Amino acid sequence: MAKWNGISKRRKNNVIEFGKKLVRRSKSTCELCGESGRSLSVYEVGKTEEKADLERCIHICDKCKNTIKKLNKASENDLRFLNHAIWSEENTVKAAAIHIISELEGENRYPWIDQMEH
Ligand SMILES: [Zn+2]
Repeated sequence: MAKWNGISKRRKNNVIEFGKKLVRRSKSTCELCGESGRSLSVYEVGKTEEKADLERCIHICDKCKNTIKKLNKASENDLRFLNHAIWSEENTVKAAAIHIISELEGENRYPWIDQMEH
């Protein structure tokens, strides 16, 4: 997760710049669940490094973001977007879905994940 305190302004500008590119790439839909008409924000997959990397950024809606933030509380229903994201043509989105699934598998309490093709 991004921690803005102490991180250079340049990095923040990077993310804003990525935001514009992501709007184009995502066509203003959530890249995880595919919903449009929701407020979208930039989310960095994995650990945060000094230099923001577009290859690790996805454009997601607040609902998906909240689900990712509270993965340990997410229900099967909350995680339906993974079925959409795992088939994304965008490698970053696919990688994000795999990353989320691997975290869930770490939790070891989602047997239904095994039934998902990945
Ligand atoms: Zn979404």
